[in-house]
Amino acid sequence: MTDLEHHIRQTPLADTHEHISSAAEVADKSPDVLQTLFGGTYITADLVVAGADPQAVERLVDSSDHDVRGRFNAISDAWQHCQHTGYGEGLRLAAKLVYGMEEISAEAVETARARDAELWQPRARLRLLREMANIEYVQIDDATWPCKADPEAPEFFLSDISWVSFVNGQIDAEAIHAEVGVDVYDLESLREAMTGIFAKHAPCAIGVKSPHAYTRTLRWKDRSDADVEGVLQRQLAGHELTDDDRLCLGDWCWARGIELATQHNLPFKHHTGYCAGHSEMVLERTRPAHLCPLLVKYPQAQFVLMHCGYPYGGELLALAKHFPNVFIDLCWAWSIDPFNLCDFVRRWIHTAPVNKLFAFGGDACWAAQSVGYAAQCRRWLTRALQAEVDERLLSEKQAMELATLVMRENQRDVFDLEGTRAALHASMKEAS
Ligand SMILES: [Zn+2]
Repeated sequence: MTDLEHHIRQTPLADTHEHISSAAEVADKSPDVLQTLFGGTYITADLVVAGADPQAVERLVDSSDHDVRGRFNAISDAWQHCQHTGYGEGLRLAAKLVYGMEEISAEAVETARARDAELWQPRARLRLLREMANIEYVQIDDATWPCKADPEAPEFFLSDISWVSFVNGQIDAEAIHAEVGVDVYDLESLREAMTGIFAKHAPCAIGVKSPHAYTRTLRWKDRSDADVEGVLQRQLAGHELTDDDRLCLGDWCWARGIELATQHNLPFKHHTGYCAGHSEMVLERTRPAHLCPLLVKYPQAQFVLMHCGYPYGGELLALAKHFPNVFIDLCWAWSIDPFNLCDFVRRWIHTAPVNKLFAFGGDACWAAQSVGYAAQCRRWLTRALQAEVDERLLSEKQAMELATLVMRENQRDVFDLEGTRAALHASMKEAS
């Protein structure tokens, strides 16, 4: 093992994006080995794209069906066709590290079932993430406003305020009232409600997150109150909004979210590029360059652009080079297209300041999956930096210093780890 490889293995990873279930959800859902390894929208999408019957894929991840051999055999041809994709590699690494599986087969999953119950135990997530994957902490998007302290490890499981419904132009007056006690009847009261949501949840939040590139364009326009008031009234009256109206209201809410995040010193994370799942992506609207007007308008905000904007990595690199307020998060992207990421990291080193790059987020729903994705990130980051050393573009010492920056130090400069942890501990004391 080279010193570089050893260093990357030993350095704890800051994990800036996950959807990992809480301990209570894990205990409740009790996922079996097939759901744990295949569950979610990544490898299941590759399987369908490879030709698997969508119903067989649904059955594959249904733990209530105890015929694990039958569930696997129904998709095994498709698995053969996508085992070498980035998703497949992440899965194989998780299977090996968590279950000791050398290959994915009906026999192997049958044997691995014996370990299922172990993973439903309290603190199993921590053992996987902190000990096995050498992750320092995780940032979780659970698609809600509250950022509650995790009872098992409040310093480890941090979370984001989700702003996606607002950016999609969906104003749920009932939910808002229940959350902050504000009746929304016009833009002024909507503004007050948003201020209330941040006042209540920002201290315990590590960031703000919106994956609206799945549902609308990233193109943003500055909208005046006068343009938006009528649209809001139509929505509150229960009328179906046109697409243009939804963008109008969504752009306004997005801007207020950026302003509030900036006031509360929270980075705002945006999904950019490729969409998980299959058969529905509108790729063009996910282009990072659509964000330029927003980046210009809010120079004091901190924009975290996620997933390497795949396949628009060149655009993302240009944005990160040009805008001091842009940071790039490679979460999930190692498993979309690992060679692309290797190349992206190398181009980055010679193009944009390296303090603005974050290496990892598993973007997974089960902790075991993140074990695989963390190993995958380390494997390909090592490969990228080793190539720099081999071609004498960096010394090994410089490569190790860069690894430390992108794996954990850069994240510390942008996210207020200690402040958030202190607020979470204080909130737990208050609650007890
Ligand atoms: Zn995600």
